Amino acid sequence: SSQPLTLKSLKVRAMDTQEGVPSMPSFDFHGIDQKLVDRMVYDSLVWSSLHGLVVGDKSRSGKVPGVGMVHAPFALLPMPFPETHWKQACEVAPIFNELVDRVSLDAKFLQDSLSRTKKADAFTSRLLDIHSKMLDINKKEEIRLGLHRSDYMLDEQTKSLLQIEMNTISSSFAGLSSLVSDLHRSLLDNYGKLLNLDSKRVPGNTAASQFADALAKAWTEYNNPRSTVMVVAQADERNMYDQHWLSSFIRKTLAEIDAEGELQADGSLMVDGQAISVIYFRAGYTPTDYPSESEWRARLLLEQSSAVKCPSISYHLVGTKKIQQELAKPNVLERFVDNKEDIAKLRKCFAGLWSLDDSDIVNKAIETPELFVMKPQREGGGNNIYGNDVREALKALQKEGTEEDAAYILMQRIFPTVFSTFLLRDGICHKDDAISELGIYGAYLRNKERVIINEQCGYLMRTKVSSSDEGGVAAGFAVLDSLYLT
Ligand code: ADP
Ligand code: MG
Ligand code: MG
Repeated sequence: SSQPLTLKSLKVRAMDTQEGVPSMPSFDFHGIDQKLVDRMVYDSLVWSSLHGLVVGDKSRSGKVPGVGMVHAPFALLPMPFPETHWKQACEVAPIFNELVDRVSLDAKFLQDSLSRTKKADAFTSRLLDIHSKMLDINKKEEIRLGLHRSDYMLDEQTKSLLQIEMNTISSSFAGLSSLVSDLHRSLLDNYGKLLNLDSKRVPGNTAASQFADALAKAWTEYNNPRSTVMVVAQADERNMYDQHWLSSFIRKTLAEIDAEGELQADGSLMVDGQAISVIYFRAGYTPTDYPSESEWRARLLLEQSSAVKCPSISYHLVGTKKIQQELAKPNVLERFVDNKEDIAKLRKCFAGLWSLDDSDIVNKAIETPELFVMKPQREGGGNNIYGNDVREALKALQKEGTEEDAAYILMQRIFPTVFSTFLLRDGICHKDDAISELGIYGAYLRNKERVIINEQCGYLMRTKVSSSDEGGVAAGFAVLDSLYLT
Protein backbone atom coordinates (compact mmCIF):
# COMPACT_ATOMS: atom_id res chain seq x y z
CA SER A 1 0.00 0.00 0.00
CA SER A 2 1.25 3.47 -0.77
CA GLN A 3 2.40 5.59 2.10
CA PRO A 4 0.22 8.60 2.84
CA LEU A 5 1.82 11.55 1.15
CA THR A 6 1.42 15.11 2.25
CA LEU A 7 2.69 18.23 0.65
CA LYS A 8 4.16 19.12 4.03
CA SER A 9 6.16 15.92 3.87
CA LEU A 10 7.31 16.75 0.36
CA LYS A 11 10.52 18.67 0.21
CA VAL A 12 10.02 22.36 -0.33
CA ARG A 13 13.07 23.73 -2.02
CA ALA A 14 14.03 27.14 -3.26
CA MET A 15 14.62 26.93 -6.96
CA ASP A 16 16.95 29.18 -8.83
CA THR A 17 15.60 30.87 -11.88
CA GLN A 18 17.80 31.28 -14.94
CA GLU A 19 18.78 34.74 -13.74
CA GLY A 20 20.08 33.33 -10.48
CA VAL A 21 17.39 35.08 -8.47
CA PRO A 22 16.17 32.76 -5.72
CA SER A 23 12.52 32.01 -6.22
CA MET A 24 9.75 31.40 -3.71
CA PRO A 25 9.56 27.92 -2.21
CA SER A 26 7.59 25.73 -4.58
CA PHE A 27 5.35 22.73 -4.28
CA ASP A 28 7.79 20.05 -5.15
CA PHE A 29 6.38 16.77 -6.37
CA HIS A 30 9.75 14.98 -6.31
CA GLY A 31 8.73 12.72 -3.47
CA ILE A 32 5.33 11.89 -4.89
CA ASP A 33 4.50 8.22 -5.21
CA GLN A 34 4.54 7.18 -8.88
CA LYS A 35 1.62 4.81 -8.37
CA LEU A 36 -0.49 7.65 -7.08
CA VAL A 37 0.44 9.78 -10.11
CA ASP A 38 -0.44 6.92 -12.46
CA ARG A 39 -3.84 6.53 -10.80
CA MET A 40 -4.59 10.22 -11.02
CA VAL A 41 -3.48 10.34 -14.67
CA TYR A 42 -5.77 7.42 -15.50
CA ASP A 43 -8.71 8.93 -13.60
CA SER A 44 -8.23 12.36 -15.13
CA LEU A 45 -8.10 10.98 -18.68
CA VAL A 46 -11.31 9.03 -18.09
CA TRP A 47 -12.90 12.10 -16.50
CA SER A 48 -11.95 14.24 -19.54
CA SER A 49 -13.59 11.79 -21.92
CA LEU A 50 -16.76 11.54 -19.84
CA HIS A 51 -17.11 15.29 -19.35
CA GLY A 52 -16.18 16.69 -22.74
CA LEU A 53 -12.78 18.14 -21.88
CA VAL A 54 -11.84 17.45 -25.49
CA VAL A 55 -10.51 18.99 -28.70
CA GLY A 56 -10.53 17.69 -32.26
CA ASP A 57 -7.46 15.59 -32.99
CA LYS A 58 -4.85 16.40 -35.58
CA SER A 59 -6.06 14.00 -38.24
CA ARG A 60 -9.57 15.40 -38.67
CA SER A 61 -10.96 18.77 -39.51
CA GLY A 62 -13.43 20.33 -37.14
CA LYS A 63 -16.30 19.74 -39.55
CA VAL A 64 -17.62 16.46 -38.18
CA PRO A 65 -18.47 16.44 -34.49
CA GLY A 66 -18.26 13.22 -32.47
CA VAL A 67 -15.28 11.72 -34.28
CA GLY A 68 -11.56 12.24 -33.94
CA MET A 69 -11.38 13.69 -30.45
CA VAL A 70 -8.57 13.79 -27.94
CA HIS A 71 -8.49 15.15 -24.41
CA ALA A 72 -7.45 18.80 -24.20
CA PRO A 73 -3.91 19.21 -22.85
CA PHE A 74 -4.08 19.87 -19.11
CA ALA A 75 -2.05 19.94 -15.90
CA LEU A 76 -2.67 17.09 -13.48
CA LEU A 77 -2.85 19.32 -10.41
CA PRO A 78 -3.79 22.98 -9.95
CA MET A 79 -1.10 25.66 -9.75
CA PRO A 80 -0.56 27.39 -6.41
CA PHE A 81 -1.56 31.06 -6.63
CA PRO A 82 -1.83 33.70 -3.88
CA GLU A 83 -5.40 34.54 -2.92
CA THR A 84 -4.67 38.29 -2.69
CA HIS A 85 -3.56 38.42 -6.34
CA TRP A 86 -6.48 36.27 -7.40
CA LYS A 87 -8.85 38.75 -5.76
CA GLN A 88 -7.03 41.68 -7.33
CA ALA A 89 -7.41 40.17 -10.81
CA CYS A 90 -11.13 39.52 -10.26
CA GLU A 91 -11.73 43.00 -8.89
CA VAL A 92 -10.30 44.84 -11.92
CA ALA A 93 -12.29 42.79 -14.46
CA PRO A 94 -15.41 45.03 -14.48
CA ILE A 95 -13.19 48.12 -14.58
CA PHE A 96 -11.41 46.77 -17.67
CA ASN A 97 -14.79 45.92 -19.24
CA GLU A 98 -15.93 49.51 -18.77
CA LEU A 99 -12.60 50.84 -20.03
CA VAL A 100 -12.89 48.84 -23.27
CA ASP A 101 -16.36 50.23 -23.83
CA ARG A 102 -15.29 53.83 -23.20
CA VAL A 103 -12.22 53.59 -25.44
CA SER A 104 -14.27 51.95 -28.21
CA LEU A 105 -16.46 55.05 -28.41
CA ASP A 106 -13.49 57.34 -29.00
CA ALA A 107 -12.98 56.77 -32.71
CA LYS A 108 -10.42 59.54 -33.00
CA PHE A 109 -8.28 58.07 -30.22
CA LEU A 110 -8.30 54.67 -31.97
CA GLN A 111 -7.49 56.09 -35.41
CA ASP A 112 -4.80 58.47 -34.10
CA SER A 113 -3.13 55.91 -31.84
CA LEU A 114 -2.99 53.38 -34.66
CA SER A 115 -2.09 55.81 -37.46
CA ARG A 116 1.64 54.89 -37.55
CA THR A 117 0.82 51.20 -37.07
CA LYS A 118 -1.51 51.43 -40.07
CA LYS A 119 1.40 52.25 -42.37
CA ALA A 120 3.52 49.34 -41.15
CA ASP A 121 0.94 46.62 -40.65
CA ALA A 122 -1.38 45.61 -43.49
CA PHE A 123 -3.73 43.60 -41.28
CA THR A 124 -4.34 46.38 -38.76
CA SER A 125 -4.72 48.71 -41.71
CA ARG A 126 -7.61 46.63 -43.10
CA LEU A 127 -9.32 46.62 -39.71
CA LEU A 128 -8.92 50.40 -39.52
CA ASP A 129 -10.41 50.75 -43.00
CA ILE A 130 -13.57 48.98 -41.83
CA HIS A 131 -13.61 51.21 -38.76
CA SER A 132 -13.31 54.32 -41.00
CA LYS A 133 -16.11 53.12 -43.23
CA MET A 134 -18.39 52.75 -40.22
CA LEU A 135 -17.51 56.31 -39.19
CA ASP A 136 -18.34 57.55 -42.69
CA ILE A 137 -21.82 56.05 -42.60
CA ASN A 138 -22.23 57.15 -38.97
CA LYS A 139 -22.85 53.59 -37.83
CA LYS A 140 -23.85 53.38 -34.16
CA GLU A 141 -23.64 50.24 -32.04
CA GLU A 142 -26.37 50.61 -29.44
CA ILE A 143 -26.20 47.07 -28.08
CA ARG A 144 -22.59 46.31 -27.24
CA LEU A 145 -21.38 42.89 -26.13
CA GLY A 146 -17.85 42.18 -24.91
CA LEU A 147 -16.61 38.71 -23.96
CA HIS A 148 -13.07 39.55 -22.91
CA ARG A 149 -10.17 37.84 -21.24
CA SER A 150 -7.51 39.82 -19.44
CA ASP A 151 -4.31 37.79 -19.00
CA TYR A 152 -1.78 38.22 -16.18
CA MET A 153 1.47 36.88 -14.93
CA LEU A 154 2.65 37.24 -11.36
CA ASP A 155 6.10 38.80 -11.42
CA GLU A 156 8.14 36.92 -8.90
CA GLN A 157 10.63 39.59 -7.92
CA THR A 158 8.20 42.46 -7.41
CA LYS A 159 5.29 40.24 -6.31
CA SER A 160 3.06 42.19 -8.64
CA LEU A 161 0.25 40.97 -10.83
CA LEU A 162 1.00 42.35 -14.29
CA GLN A 163 -1.26 42.31 -17.31
CA ILE A 164 0.10 40.47 -20.34
CA GLU A 165 -2.69 41.59 -22.65
CA MET A 166 -6.41 42.19 -22.98
CA ASN A 167 -8.24 39.95 -25.46
CA THR A 168 -11.41 41.46 -26.90
CA ILE A 169 -11.90 39.02 -29.77
CA SER A 170 -12.20 35.21 -29.71
CA SER A 171 -11.25 34.92 -26.04
CA SER A 172 -10.99 31.17 -25.99
CA PHE A 173 -11.30 28.36 -23.43
CA ALA A 174 -14.25 29.69 -21.40
CA GLY A 175 -15.86 26.30 -22.03
CA LEU A 176 -12.93 23.99 -21.37
CA SER A 177 -11.38 25.95 -18.49
CA SER A 178 -14.58 25.56 -16.46
CA LEU A 179 -14.12 21.81 -16.87
CA VAL A 180 -10.49 21.81 -15.77
CA SER A 181 -11.50 23.43 -12.48
CA ASP A 182 -14.13 20.70 -12.05
CA LEU A 183 -11.59 18.02 -12.91
CA HIS A 184 -9.09 19.30 -10.34
CA ARG A 185 -11.75 19.58 -7.66
CA SER A 186 -12.86 16.06 -8.40
CA LEU A 187 -9.26 14.71 -8.26
CA LEU A 188 -8.67 16.49 -4.95
CA ASP A 189 -11.96 15.16 -3.57
CA ASN A 190 -10.58 11.68 -4.22
CA TYR A 191 -6.85 12.12 -3.55
CA GLY A 192 -6.62 15.43 -1.68
CA LYS A 193 -6.11 13.76 1.69
CA LEU A 194 -3.05 11.93 0.39
CA LEU A 195 -1.67 15.16 -0.98
CA ASN A 196 -2.83 17.38 1.87
CA LEU A 197 -4.67 19.54 -0.64
CA ASP A 198 -8.23 20.77 -0.15
CA SER A 199 -10.51 20.82 -3.22
CA LYS A 200 -12.24 23.92 -1.83
CA ARG A 201 -9.07 25.94 -2.47
CA VAL A 202 -9.73 25.57 -6.23
CA PRO A 203 -12.11 28.44 -7.08
CA GLY A 204 -15.27 27.44 -8.90
CA ASN A 205 -15.30 28.44 -12.54
CA THR A 206 -18.54 29.40 -14.27
CA ALA A 207 -16.97 31.05 -17.32
CA ALA A 208 -18.91 28.88 -19.77
CA SER A 209 -22.36 29.49 -18.31
CA GLN A 210 -21.72 33.20 -17.80
CA PHE A 211 -20.52 33.68 -21.39
CA ALA A 212 -23.53 31.69 -22.62
CA ASP A 213 -25.80 33.84 -20.47
CA ALA A 214 -24.29 37.04 -21.91
CA LEU A 215 -24.85 35.80 -25.48
CA ALA A 216 -28.43 34.89 -24.59
CA LYS A 217 -29.08 38.28 -23.02
CA ALA A 218 -27.68 40.03 -26.10
CA TRP A 219 -30.11 37.94 -28.18
CA THR A 220 -32.96 39.07 -25.89
CA GLU A 221 -31.97 42.73 -26.24
CA TYR A 222 -31.99 42.47 -30.03
CA ASN A 223 -35.58 41.35 -29.66
CA ASN A 224 -36.29 39.18 -32.67
CA PRO A 225 -37.58 35.81 -31.42
CA ARG A 226 -37.00 34.23 -34.83
CA SER A 227 -33.34 35.22 -34.92
CA THR A 228 -30.32 33.20 -33.89
CA VAL A 229 -26.74 33.52 -32.63
CA MET A 230 -24.09 32.83 -35.25
CA VAL A 231 -20.52 31.84 -34.44
CA VAL A 232 -17.99 32.89 -37.03
CA ALA A 233 -15.69 29.88 -37.06
CA GLN A 234 -12.45 28.88 -38.70
CA ALA A 235 -12.79 26.18 -41.35
CA ASP A 236 -10.36 23.81 -39.68
CA GLU A 237 -11.00 24.52 -36.01
CA ARG A 238 -9.79 21.92 -33.52
CA ASN A 239 -11.07 23.77 -30.49
CA MET A 240 -14.75 23.56 -31.48
CA TYR A 241 -15.96 21.78 -28.33
CA ASP A 242 -14.86 24.78 -26.28
CA GLN A 243 -17.23 26.80 -28.50
CA HIS A 244 -20.03 24.21 -28.40
CA TRP A 245 -19.94 24.39 -24.59
CA LEU A 246 -21.35 27.92 -24.79
CA SER A 247 -24.47 27.03 -26.78
CA SER A 248 -25.71 25.57 -30.01
CA PHE A 249 -25.29 28.25 -32.64
CA ILE A 250 -25.20 28.18 -36.36
CA ARG A 251 -21.57 28.07 -37.40
CA LYS A 252 -20.29 29.79 -40.51
CA THR A 253 -16.89 30.62 -41.89
CA LEU A 254 -16.23 34.10 -43.26
CA ALA A 255 -16.17 32.63 -46.78
CA GLU A 256 -19.61 31.08 -46.24
CA ILE A 257 -20.93 34.36 -44.88
CA ASP A 258 -19.67 36.11 -48.01
CA ALA A 259 -21.58 33.59 -50.15
CA GLU A 260 -24.76 33.28 -48.08
CA GLY A 261 -25.12 36.55 -46.17
CA GLU A 262 -27.20 39.55 -47.11
CA LEU A 263 -28.31 42.77 -45.53
CA GLN A 264 -32.03 43.51 -45.48
CA ALA A 265 -33.37 46.99 -46.20
CA ASP A 266 -33.69 47.61 -42.45
CA GLY A 267 -30.03 46.71 -41.87
CA SER A 268 -30.72 43.32 -40.35
CA LEU A 269 -28.59 40.34 -41.35
CA MET A 270 -29.75 37.13 -43.01
CA VAL A 271 -27.34 34.24 -43.52
CA ASP A 272 -28.56 31.25 -45.49
CA GLY A 273 -32.16 32.35 -44.93
CA GLN A 274 -31.71 32.70 -41.17
CA ALA A 275 -32.07 36.00 -39.28
CA ILE A 276 -28.91 36.66 -37.21
CA SER A 277 -29.11 38.79 -34.07
CA VAL A 278 -25.74 38.08 -32.43
CA ILE A 279 -22.44 37.48 -34.22
CA TYR A 280 -19.87 35.74 -32.04
CA PHE A 281 -16.41 35.85 -33.62
CA ARG A 282 -14.18 32.84 -33.01
CA ALA A 283 -12.34 33.67 -36.22
CA GLY A 284 -11.26 36.87 -37.91
CA TYR A 285 -8.52 37.82 -35.44
CA THR A 286 -5.57 36.75 -37.54
CA PRO A 287 -4.46 37.47 -41.14
CA THR A 288 -4.73 33.78 -42.08
CA ASP A 289 -8.48 34.02 -41.43
CA TYR A 290 -8.63 36.32 -44.49
CA PRO A 291 -7.01 34.34 -47.32
CA SER A 292 -8.90 36.33 -49.97
CA GLU A 293 -11.04 39.43 -50.49
CA SER A 294 -14.10 37.27 -49.87
CA GLU A 295 -13.39 37.11 -46.11
CA TRP A 296 -12.84 40.87 -45.90
CA ARG A 297 -16.15 41.45 -47.72
CA ALA A 298 -17.84 39.22 -45.15
CA ARG A 299 -16.28 41.08 -42.22
CA LEU A 300 -17.48 44.38 -43.68
CA LEU A 301 -20.96 43.00 -44.29
CA LEU A 302 -21.20 41.81 -40.68
CA GLU A 303 -20.01 45.17 -39.39
CA GLN A 304 -22.58 47.04 -41.47
CA SER A 305 -25.44 44.94 -40.14
CA SER A 306 -27.56 45.78 -37.13
CA ALA A 307 -26.73 42.47 -35.43
CA VAL A 308 -24.86 42.62 -32.13
CA LYS A 309 -21.19 41.96 -32.84
CA CYS A 310 -18.97 40.29 -30.33
CA PRO A 311 -16.75 42.13 -30.91
CA SER A 312 -17.54 45.18 -32.99
CA ILE A 313 -14.64 46.51 -35.06
CA SER A 314 -14.09 49.17 -32.36
CA TYR A 315 -13.90 46.59 -29.57
CA HIS A 316 -11.54 44.54 -31.74
CA LEU A 317 -9.20 47.52 -32.20
CA VAL A 318 -9.24 48.35 -28.48
CA GLY A 319 -7.71 44.91 -27.92
CA THR A 320 -4.62 45.59 -30.05
CA LYS A 321 -1.21 45.64 -28.37
CA LYS A 322 -0.70 49.19 -29.61
CA ILE A 323 -3.77 50.45 -27.78
CA GLN A 324 -2.66 48.58 -24.65
CA GLN A 325 0.63 50.48 -24.88
CA GLU A 326 -1.07 53.84 -25.51
CA LEU A 327 -3.38 53.35 -22.51
CA ALA A 328 -0.34 52.78 -20.30
CA LYS A 329 1.07 56.24 -21.11
CA PRO A 330 0.72 58.93 -18.43
CA ASN A 331 -2.65 60.72 -18.30
CA VAL A 332 -4.33 58.55 -20.92
CA LEU A 333 -6.49 56.44 -18.59
CA GLU A 334 -7.78 59.72 -17.15
CA ARG A 335 -9.46 60.45 -20.49
CA PHE A 336 -11.63 57.37 -20.16
CA VAL A 337 -12.10 56.59 -16.48
CA ASP A 338 -13.51 59.09 -13.97
CA ASN A 339 -12.98 57.25 -10.71
CA LYS A 340 -9.45 57.85 -9.34
CA GLU A 341 -9.39 54.59 -7.39
CA ASP A 342 -10.33 52.65 -10.49
CA ILE A 343 -7.52 54.33 -12.40
CA ALA A 344 -5.06 53.35 -9.67
CA LYS A 345 -6.27 49.74 -9.75
CA LEU A 346 -5.85 49.53 -13.53
CA ARG A 347 -2.46 51.21 -13.52
CA LYS A 348 -1.18 48.91 -10.80
CA CYS A 349 -1.34 45.97 -13.21
CA PHE A 350 0.28 47.72 -16.17
CA ALA A 351 3.73 46.41 -17.02
CA GLY A 352 6.30 48.59 -18.76
CA LEU A 353 5.08 49.23 -22.33
CA TRP A 354 6.81 51.31 -24.95
CA SER A 355 6.53 52.45 -28.51
CA LEU A 356 9.58 51.88 -30.72
CA ASP A 357 9.88 55.57 -31.53
CA ASP A 358 11.38 55.91 -28.04
CA SER A 359 15.08 55.53 -28.93
CA ASP A 360 16.26 55.35 -25.30
CA ILE A 361 14.19 52.26 -24.66
CA VAL A 362 15.14 50.71 -28.00
CA ASN A 363 18.83 51.11 -27.08
CA LYS A 364 18.18 49.62 -23.67
CA ALA A 365 16.42 46.66 -25.27
CA ILE A 366 19.37 46.14 -27.62
CA GLU A 367 21.68 46.07 -24.58
CA THR A 368 19.49 43.79 -22.44
CA PRO A 369 17.06 42.03 -24.79
CA GLU A 370 16.28 39.32 -22.20
CA LEU A 371 14.35 41.92 -20.18
CA PHE A 372 11.96 42.71 -23.03
CA VAL A 373 9.36 41.14 -25.29
CA MET A 374 8.75 42.59 -28.75
CA LYS A 375 5.18 42.27 -29.93
CA PRO A 376 3.54 42.77 -33.32
CA GLN A 377 -0.21 43.48 -33.66
CA ARG A 378 -1.17 39.82 -33.71
CA GLU A 379 -3.32 37.39 -31.74
CA GLY A 380 -3.32 33.66 -31.16
CA GLY A 381 0.17 33.06 -29.81
CA GLY A 382 3.51 32.37 -31.47
CA ASN A 383 4.07 35.88 -32.83
CA ASN A 384 6.28 37.57 -30.25
CA ILE A 385 10.04 38.06 -30.33
CA TYR A 386 12.24 37.18 -27.34
CA GLY A 387 15.85 37.20 -26.19
CA ASN A 388 18.58 37.69 -28.77
CA ASP A 389 16.03 37.90 -31.54
CA VAL A 390 14.82 41.17 -29.96
CA ARG A 391 18.30 42.62 -30.35
CA GLU A 392 18.60 41.43 -33.95
CA ALA A 393 15.13 42.65 -34.90
CA LEU A 394 15.65 46.07 -33.32
CA LYS A 395 19.05 46.51 -34.96
CA ALA A 396 17.59 45.56 -38.33
CA LEU A 397 14.79 48.08 -37.90
CA GLN A 398 17.28 50.80 -36.90
CA LYS A 399 19.34 50.06 -40.01
CA GLU A 400 16.32 50.22 -42.29
CA GLY A 401 15.26 53.49 -40.73
CA THR A 402 11.76 53.07 -42.13
CA GLU A 403 8.33 53.20 -40.49
CA GLU A 404 8.36 49.41 -40.08
CA ASP A 405 9.08 49.77 -36.37
CA ALA A 406 5.51 51.00 -35.88
CA ALA A 407 4.26 47.43 -36.37
CA TYR A 408 5.65 46.53 -32.93
CA ILE A 409 5.58 47.51 -29.30
CA LEU A 410 8.11 46.69 -26.60
CA MET A 411 7.05 45.23 -23.29
CA GLN A 412 8.82 44.54 -20.04
CA ARG A 413 9.42 40.82 -19.76
CA ILE A 414 7.67 39.29 -16.76
CA PHE A 415 9.25 36.42 -14.83
CA PRO A 416 6.75 34.34 -12.87
CA THR A 417 7.69 31.83 -10.18
CA VAL A 418 8.71 28.43 -11.50
CA PHE A 419 6.88 25.41 -10.10
CA SER A 420 7.34 21.76 -10.80
CA THR A 421 4.18 20.27 -12.32
CA PHE A 422 2.72 17.37 -14.32
CA LEU A 423 1.61 18.17 -17.86
CA LEU A 424 -0.64 15.87 -19.89
CA ARG A 425 -0.81 15.93 -23.67
CA ASP A 426 -2.02 13.12 -25.95
CA GLY A 427 -2.42 10.81 -22.95
CA ILE A 428 1.20 11.17 -21.92
CA CYS A 429 2.18 12.72 -18.61
CA HIS A 430 5.50 14.38 -18.04
CA LYS A 431 6.90 16.34 -15.14
CA ASP A 432 8.57 19.65 -15.79
CA ASP A 433 9.34 23.06 -14.37
CA ALA A 434 6.56 25.39 -15.42
CA ILE A 435 5.16 28.90 -15.17
CA SER A 436 1.55 30.03 -15.36
CA GLU A 437 -0.54 32.78 -16.85
CA LEU A 438 -3.90 33.63 -15.31
CA GLY A 439 -6.71 34.81 -17.58
CA ILE A 440 -9.79 36.44 -16.09
CA TYR A 441 -12.90 36.43 -18.24
CA GLY A 442 -15.15 39.44 -18.31
CA ALA A 443 -18.60 39.91 -19.83
CA TYR A 444 -20.07 43.29 -20.66
CA LEU A 445 -23.44 44.00 -22.22
CA ARG A 446 -25.12 47.34 -22.58
CA ASN A 447 -28.00 48.76 -24.55
CA LYS A 448 -27.56 52.51 -24.93
CA GLU A 449 -27.24 53.90 -21.41
CA ARG A 450 -28.35 50.71 -19.69
CA VAL A 451 -25.53 48.43 -18.52
CA ILE A 452 -27.07 44.96 -18.40
CA ILE A 453 -23.99 42.91 -17.54
CA ASN A 454 -20.61 44.00 -16.25
CA GLU A 455 -18.97 41.16 -14.43
CA GLN A 456 -15.98 38.92 -13.93
CA CYS A 457 -16.80 35.42 -15.17
CA GLY A 458 -14.46 32.66 -14.16
CA TYR A 459 -10.87 32.17 -15.21
CA LEU A 460 -8.36 30.37 -17.36
CA MET A 461 -5.08 29.17 -15.96
CA ARG A 462 -2.50 28.18 -18.55
CA THR A 463 0.73 26.49 -17.60
CA LYS A 464 3.74 26.05 -19.85
CA VAL A 465 7.22 24.64 -19.39
CA SER A 466 9.41 27.44 -18.12
CA SER A 467 11.93 27.00 -20.93
CA SER A 468 9.33 28.06 -23.51
CA ASP A 469 8.91 31.75 -24.29
CA GLU A 470 5.45 31.65 -25.79
CA GLY A 471 2.14 30.67 -24.23
CA GLY A 472 -0.98 29.45 -26.02
CA VAL A 473 -2.73 26.11 -25.55
CA ALA A 474 -4.06 25.87 -29.10
CA ALA A 475 -0.65 26.92 -30.42
CA GLY A 476 0.83 23.89 -28.59
CA PHE A 477 2.95 25.70 -25.98
CA ALA A 478 0.79 25.43 -22.87
CA VAL A 479 -1.72 23.22 -21.08
CA LEU A 480 -5.00 24.13 -19.39
CA ASP A 481 -4.82 24.39 -15.64
CA SER A 482 -6.69 25.75 -12.66
CA LEU A 483 -5.46 27.44 -9.53
CA TYR A 484 -4.98 26.47 -5.92
CA LEU A 485 -5.36 29.45 -3.62
CA THR A 486 -2.50 29.92 -1.17
P1 ADP B 1 -1.31 36.76 -28.06
O1 ADP B 1 -2.35 37.78 -28.31
O2 ADP B 1 -0.73 36.18 -29.30
O3 ADP B 1 -1.76 35.72 -27.09
P2 ADP B 1 0.38 37.68 -25.88
O4 ADP B 1 0.71 39.10 -25.61
O5 ADP B 1 -0.57 37.06 -24.95
O6 ADP B 1 -0.09 37.56 -27.39
O7 ADP B 1 1.73 36.85 -25.89
C1 ADP B 1 1.74 35.45 -26.10
C2 ADP B 1 2.47 34.76 -24.97
O8 ADP B 1 3.79 35.28 -24.82
C3 ADP B 1 1.83 34.92 -23.60
O9 ADP B 1 0.82 33.95 -23.39
C4 ADP B 1 3.00 34.76 -22.67
O10 ADP B 1 3.27 33.38 -22.44
C5 ADP B 1 4.15 35.35 -23.45
N1 ADP B 1 4.34 36.76 -23.07
C6 ADP B 1 3.71 37.82 -23.61
N2 ADP B 1 4.09 38.97 -23.02
C7 ADP B 1 4.98 38.62 -22.08
C8 ADP B 1 5.75 39.36 -21.13
N3 ADP B 1 5.68 40.69 -21.05
N4 ADP B 1 6.58 38.67 -20.30
C9 ADP B 1 6.67 37.33 -20.38
N5 ADP B 1 5.98 36.57 -21.26
C10 ADP B 1 5.15 37.21 -22.10
MG1 MG C 1 -4.28 37.90 -27.42
MG1 MG D 1 -2.29 36.01 -25.14
